[in-house]
Amino acid sequence: MRYLLSLILVGLILPSFGQENTTWQGKFEQLGNMIAPPSTYRNASGAPGADYWQQRADYTIKAELDEVNNVLTGEETIVYYNNSPDVLKYVWIQLEQNVNRKESEDFGDVMGGVKDSISSRQMQFLVRPIEFPAGYTIKYVKDGSGNTLQSLVNNTMMRVNLKQPLNPNQSASFSIAWSYHITDRSMFLLSREGYEHYPADNNNVYLIAHWFPRMAVYNDTEGWQNKQFQRLGEFALEFGNYEVEITVPADHIIASTGTLQNPKEVLSAKQRERLELANNSFDKPIQIITTDEAVESEKKKSTKRKTWHFKADNVRDFAFASSRKFIWDAQAVKLPTNTTLAMSFYPKEGLPVWMEESTKAVVNALEVYSHATFDYPYPVAISVNTSNIGMEFPMISFNGGRPVNGKISDAAKNGMVSTIVHEVGHNWFPMIVSSDERQWMWMDEGLNTFLHQRTMAERYPQASSTKPKDIVNYMKGDQSIMRPIMTTSDNELFGQFGANFYRKPTVALQILRETVIGKELFDLAFKEYANNWKYKHPNPGDLFRTLEEATAVDLDWFWRGWFFTTDNVDINLAEVKWYQMKTENISLENKGKQVKSGDLTASSGTTGNNSDFSQGPEEFTMTETPDAFYSQFLSRLNEEEVRANLEGKNIYELKLKNEGGLVMPVVIKWTFTDGSSEIDRLPAEIWRLNEHEVSKTFVKNKEVAKITIDPNLELADVDLSNNVFPKIAGKSKFEEFKEKNK
Ligand SMILES: [Zn+2]
Repeated sequence: MRYLLSLILVGLILPSFGQENTTWQGKFEQLGNMIAPPSTYRNASGAPGADYWQQRADYTIKAELDEVNNVLTGEETIVYYNNSPDVLKYVWIQLEQNVNRKESEDFGDVMGGVKDSISSRQMQFLVRPIEFPAGYTIKYVKDGSGNTLQSLVNNTMMRVNLKQPLNPNQSASFSIAWSYHITDRSMFLLSREGYEHYPADNNNVYLIAHWFPRMAVYNDTEGWQNKQFQRLGEFALEFGNYEVEITVPADHIIASTGTLQNPKEVLSAKQRERLELANNSFDKPIQIITTDEAVESEKKKSTKRKTWHFKADNVRDFAFASSRKFIWDAQAVKLPTNTTLAMSFYPKEGLPVWMEESTKAVVNALEVYSHATFDYPYPVAISVNTSNIGMEFPMISFNGGRPVNGKISDAAKNGMVSTIVHEVGHNWFPMIVSSDERQWMWMDEGLNTFLHQRTMAERYPQASSTKPKDIVNYMKGDQSIMRPIMTTSDNELFGQFGANFYRKPTVALQILRETVIGKELFDLAFKEYANNWKYKHPNPGDLFRTLEEATAVDLDWFWRGWFFTTDNVDINLAEVKWYQMKTENISLENKGKQVKSGDLTASSGTTGNNSDFSQGPEEFTMTETPDAFYSQFLSRLNEEEVRANLEGKNIYELKLKNEGGLVMPVVIKWTFTDGSSEIDRLPAEIWRLNEHEVSKTFVKNKEVAKITIDPNLELADVDLSNNVFPKIAGKSKFEEFKEKNK
């Protein structure tokens, strides 16, 4: 009791004396109300609960593309199923094309501000929303009986008032007629869709996405997810079945979400024959449309129209691409429980690399992701070439990367392949494991980048893939502007979202897999999360809980540190003491006063200020355990055996300081004087009782020449200069100071 009391006193007094912060910050405490508490909807194990519910929206859409005026016109009927326990008097519908209007936050945003000299592309952001007739024209909103419904548009959201309240377990049907001017992709910031114009042959490639008014999500944690669409926060969408008919110029080819229902009406006999071959070609792609055929098709424009009919089941969105420029190849992929068709569509400007690499990259992504989570369930997986960036939709993605005059550098090619793998990977997160992107960009980007980087490491070892050390520069950056991962998507800085929402969670998951949990258990837990939440809407807490539940590792300290703070990893090997045991025995009666029973105590002075091993080991004396310790116990230590086990051994006491704030496992590499080495791994829990400083003692048979913390760079330690002993020679205190503060 007294011992305890004195500890408490020390704890209370120290902070006011010392310069270093030694305050207990509860880094190992449970998350508590930092995440939503479990409920009957989302249970405490991180799985959907007994009463979990989710809305559903089925769509029937007829759309027509006018390539002269670049206008898309459509009529749709939504059947909305209210599976919630709530009565709904109105519904919210997303009108994302309105983001291009003047009301949008994007308006007037000249990146970097107006300067002496500024490009016309930048300046057009000031005038474009005024001159371009952006956004939807809504022609009508009607209910199932044809009665007009009252609708009110608030920027990218439309509230539709229902004639009758929609009760639980009922459905409502309403129809919307709309049109909008398709945007030129190159003119918009971070444009996910639009058309690309090719002046040489005067053709367009249309990349059509968030094109039809879509139901907003209504769920147990948000009610209506009706936050406006701005920039980074992408989509929150309900699942449903789609029947879509798209009318385009007769010589266009459409790549789309879903299965084509009327190939006889829109494809030639030769194309259908080749598609049949592709359905049975598991080792290489088959050209459905060859280069020559695509080039021929570019030359004239048909005035006739054709209607393509697609069906897609259990998807949360629908996108398509249309052009007469497309070259098309396809290859079948056999997964344990599904056979699917990997396809690529690209203009001749993508040759030759798109023909060589795109479908191959789709196949690689499908195989690695399926193995890590669940088999890709959809009938097709499509990669469409664009000039830049990559953007994902169910079964189809628009992927940047293009050669210049047929030539592409290895780095650019790897970048292109990496983009395709990433965007195809988004089929899992968030297209099937359907998190709320508008709130949590990291939940889809972070988890997807983690598997995308694993695919690159496994299937493209020659290309570089993200490793923990790649996040160091970001993590030691300016704390005054950094946000934790648990930050709403649109509140992140443009210059930082890649690091904070993609790479940091990727590295966090890599550290969990490689260092904290171990591959086997981690992979099972990750699979558990993916399978629990497929076709559902998980929240961050559901992921956090599942990874603990399935591994028996309390990870609240990890979520706290990595997801709720901007702390970094910096373990400082502050002090090393080296001891050897004196050979002669000293009985309790004869021992010197400074030697306490049971302690390892240096026989002379302090040794902590050494910067290398040159002074040799300090000696200590092992005393016999006093009788009083044994008290009424009958068994006793074999003193000789303990002594024999320690005789001639080297004992090292390491003082570790946590300079970065994140409590982390410690990996120690011991290099011995004979050149051999070994590694010790300490769990993060060593920091439980003191989050700032910890001493650990090790016994080694051999003499140690060098000690290195995080030798394999698996922990994202931001300052490696304080990770080694002997301390790096030649560095003055001033240099060390400079390095720490840069
Ligand atoms: Zn992404």
